This record gives sequence, C-alpha cells and structure tokens, in this order.
Amino acid sequence: MEESKKIDLSRPGKKLRLFFEALRLVWKSSPLWAALNTVISILRSIMPLAFIWLIRILTDSIASAVSSGMAHDGGKIMILIILAALLYFTDEVLSELGNYARKKQSDDLEQYMYGLLHSKSVRIDLINFEKTGYFDILTRAVREAPWRPNSILNNMVSVIRALLSLVLMAGLILTFRWTIVIIMLAANIPSIWLRLHFSGVLYHFHRDQTAEARKSAYFNWLLTGDRPSREIRLFGLGEYFINLFNRSFSRQKNDEMRIIRKRTYIEMFSALVRAAAFLVVFRIIASATLSGSVTLGQMAMVLIAFRQGMISLKDLFSATAGLYEDSLFIEDAFEFLGLRENIKAEKPVTAPGPLEKNIVLNNLSFSYPGNHEPAIRNVSFEIGKGEIIAIVGPNGAGKSTLARLLCRLYDPDSGSVEYDGLDIRHFDPDLYRKYFSVVFQDFMLYNLTAGENIRMGNTDENDQEAEIRVAATKAGISDLIEGLPSGYNTMIGNLFEDSRELSWGEWQKLAIARSLFRNAPVMILDEPSSALDADSEYEIFSRLRDMVRGRTAILISHRFTNVTLADRIIVLENGSVAESGTHEELIRSGGIYTRMYLKQTNTPGSGRTS
Ligand code: ATP
Repeated sequence: MEESKKIDLSRPGKKLRLFFEALRLVWKSSPLWAALNTVISILRSIMPLAFIWLIRILTDSIASAVSSGMAHDGGKIMILIILAALLYFTDEVLSELGNYARKKQSDDLEQYMYGLLHSKSVRIDLINFEKTGYFDILTRAVREAPWRPNSILNNMVSVIRALLSLVLMAGLILTFRWTIVIIMLAANIPSIWLRLHFSGVLYHFHRDQTAEARKSAYFNWLLTGDRPSREIRLFGLGEYFINLFNRSFSRQKNDEMRIIRKRTYIEMFSALVRAAAFLVVFRIIASATLSGSVTLGQMAMVLIAFRQGMISLKDLFSATAGLYEDSLFIEDAFEFLGLRENIKAEKPVTAPGPLEKNIVLNNLSFSYPGNHEPAIRNVSFEIGKGEIIAIVGPNGAGKSTLARLLCRLYDPDSGSVEYDGLDIRHFDPDLYRKYFSVVFQDFMLYNLTAGENIRMGNTDENDQEAEIRVAATKAGISDLIEGLPSGYNTMIGNLFEDSRELSWGEWQKLAIARSLFRNAPVMILDEPSSALDADSEYEIFSRLRDMVRGRTAILISHRFTNVTLADRIIVLENGSVAESGTHEELIRSGGIYTRMYLKQTNTPGSGRTS
C-alpha cells in the first residue's frame, strides 16, 4: 500500500482557502451563469422526490380502481398522469438550461483563467525559464487552471444536490423501515474509501509523471514539428525518436494502467456489496407487500426511493472524491499563479528617461540556476552615450548573458548596472526596457504580416507605415517585402493560409528592421548578421554608424571584421573582461583579441600565442 501513504489530507485550512479562492475566480469570471447553474442544479435535486410521491399516489389510485372494478377515478388518474408528464418536462427543460448555463460559465471561466495564466507567464522573471522545475509547474498549471475552479463549483453543487436528495429519499424510506436506510449507507462504504483513495493515488501519479509527460510531448514535437522535420529526414532519425516516444509513453501508461486495474478489481467488489444490499432490501419490501402490511403504491415508492437513494449516495461520494481531487490539483494552478516576481522596481522607485550620460556596469557577477560556474564574473566597464561598443569573445564567454543583464532580464548575483547614475533596480522593468532595442541571437519569427513583424518593435503607436518602411529599408529588406503579393500586408511564415516563408537570413533582416523601428536610445545587436550573406552583411555593417546614429549601440559579434568599426571593444573570456580598447590598441597589445583576429582573417603569424 505504498500509494496510500502518499495521500495528503493535511493542511485543511490551506485547502479551504484555495477552494474559496477558486470559487472567487468562478464568480468573478461569470457571476450570472455561475448563479444560474447553481440554482438550476439545486432545483433539479427536488424533482425526484415529487416524482416518486406522484408515482405512489398514482399506483395506489390505479390499484384501488382495479380492485374495486370501477373506473370512476379515471379523472383523478389522468390529472396525476398529466402532473407526472409536466414534472418530467420541467426536469428536462431545467436539464437543458443547466447544460447551457454550465457550458457558458465554463467557457467564460476558461477564457478568464487563460488570461490569468498568460499575463502571469509574460510577467514572470525570465530566470524561471532556466529552471527545469518551472516547466513542470507551468505544464501542470496550464493543464489544470482553465477548468479546475469550475470543477470545484460543480462538485460542491453536486454534494449539496446529492445530500438534499439523499435526505429526502431517506425520509421517504424511514416512513417504511429505518433498517433499509442503514443498509443503504453501509453498502456504499467500500465505494467512498475507493474513490478517496484512488483520487490521491492518481493525483500523485500524474504529478510524478509531469517530467515524463513533458519528455514524450517533446519527442512528439520532434516527430511532428516543422523545425525538426528536415534533420529528422536527413539523418533518418524517425525510428530513433519513435522508439524514444514509445518507451516514454508506455512507461507512463503502464504505470497508470496498473493503478486503474487495481481500482477496477476493488470497484467490482464494491458493486457486489451494493448488489447484495439490493437483494436484501427487495426481499424485505416484497415480503411486506405480500403480507399486506404495505400498499402497492408504498412498495413502488420505497423501491424507487431506495434506488434513487443509492444513486444520490454514489453521486455524493463521487462529488466528495472530486472535491478532494480538486483540492490537490488546484494547488498546482495556484502554485504557478503565486510564483514570486523578483524583477520589479525596488524602493525608492525612479522613472527612467532616454539615456543622457552613460551606462556603468559595476563588478557584475551572475550564475545560472544549477550551474555553479558563474557565467559573468566581476565585470566592470562603462558605455558612454552615443558610443558603439563591441563585445567579443569565444563561445560561452558570457556575451549574451551580459546583454540580458543590461536589459534587466536577469538580476545579477552581485554588482549593479547604473543607467545615468541610477541603479536599474529602482526602475520599473517595463519602463526601463522601453529604452532598449535588441536583436537577440535567437530572435523571434512571428507568423504575422511583414508590416506587423516590424511593428512588433513598438506596438504603442498605430499608423506608422512610413516609419515601418524606413526601418525595412535600413535593414535591407524593403525590396523583398515590396515584391511580396500583398507587400507589407503579406503573411509571413508557414503556419497560416496565403503565407510566404522567408529564408533564415531574410527573417534576420526583419528582426533588425523591428529593432530599428523601436527607435530606442540603446540598441543591442547580438550576432545580428549570423545568417546574412556577405553582401547584406557588408551593407548593414557599412551603414551601422548611420543606422544607429544618435543612439548608443552594443554589438556582439564573432566576426572580427565587423567589430573594427566600434569605438571600443570589450573582450570577454570565461565571463570576465580580458581586454578592452580600440581595434588598433588591442592589436598593438598582442593579446587574445589579436590572436583571434589574426586567426579569423587568416593573417600569417596567427599561430603565435601571446
Ligand atoms: P556564444 O558566443 O556561443 O553565443 P556567449 O558568449 O553568448 O556564447 P552565453 O550564452 O552568455 O555565452 O553563456 C555564458 C555561459 O553561461 C556558458 O558557459 C553557458 O554554458 C552558460 N549558460 C548559458 N545559458 C545557460 C542556461 N540557461 N543555464 C545554465 N547555463 C547557461
């Protein structure tokens, strides 16, 4: 019974708080439909009682008419039949209305919860994306949050409905014999244990399986996604990943089936207990009717009430187990929504403005989570307004990390970045980032129109067609866009209809245009020409000074011929500043920069060490 130990019934206070929080979300997302859904559900729980009562009167009326051999009660019987039909119709109408209200309410809630998830996801500190545990939390939240609060409401309403119906049925049966009520309750004990037990077991199973499920989702993407499709074919990796997917999938499903198999056996046993209860109760009622101590109508009433009572009990236990399961899963959704955001303005908060003086890096150090080696170690330098600074260095030297620290996508472990003399921690990060424009090494491809792809650099203002064209021209992509079937309105990419796919280099030019369109005082270009052809690269770099005129620029590049135009070059090695100076100064000093420059330009003597 390894699994049973895992059931956590502790912290009822916390669970209750989560329940209330979930119900608050349901109410906030759709008050009208939530109220209607609840009222209809409760109304419907009274229907069976009225129906059973009518059946009893009807049966007795028919029996007495038959035994007296007279049809004089025909009118009364007809009224009872019409009443029963009306009741049936009302129940059906309420059922349909309830379905409609439930659907509308769950749609409203789903949209509301996606809103919460999405706004949290875009606000959350970027550093979370470097932690594997984060993706497990995110996966569980996305899986549960859109519908779990609704499940809590529905299960609570079901508990109330089932309880109400059970009390009414038990009341009816008590008019006959109390032992039947006891039998009814006792016969359901195995069921409630079963449901509660397996809710916990399955919850822990799904939680433990999140990482494995992500793994199979990843293999599935490798086999079906657009990006991997070329390598998969070229290297013939299909079978390899199909095997990995199958292994991962079977691992999850086999474990799940083992639990479900066990539950099925116990479920069969509990069904046997309930069938035995039916046998005993039917026997008691039949004997009482044969002995004449109860009327035929009473017999019909008790039999139906017993059957309905069993159904209500089953519903009650299902809903209770559902609530228990909800209490476990809703925690996952709130775990994500409650993740702390550390990258925010610290007091005293100051509003940043366009750069006037400089950006100063003071002794910056930073390590990625789970990586003991710092990516940045005690880095200090200054970037003056209007300067073009190049950052060079071998792979993994920390160049991209430094760019992210500058935009405050991460906070350093120690040291600080000062923007015009103020520690950037005191700025609202969103306001601060408005003064930065970045072409990331892994820039985004938006499946939108060409114009929108550029406009994503600054969505604050509309009607900037002229500026979009200027940015496209500067990035050397205007001719291509104008040649597209609908020019700037042509959909780019391969996801949607009438789209036009671009080459990687063309995408990169679009990304450059996007960053130029942002018109921010500080530009960071992280390997902006890695995919450009020689002509385009030459074009862009020969005009770089023009392009960034009036701005401060930080250029990260492996191509040494491109960085010679910078006012100053910072050489990073192993996360630290190894050298800095102009191209000429660095060449004269004959250090690591000279060595790399000579190797790349294939100049004789490149083999020497400094
Ligand atoms: P490249 O020239 O290859 O782009 P880079 O100089 O830009 O490299 P960074 O990407 O800043 O280097 O990486 C610096 C160091 O941080 C490397 O050692 C890298 O392995 C490590 N690193 C980068 N991203 C992560 C991450 N998400 N988690 C852990 N370590 C990371």
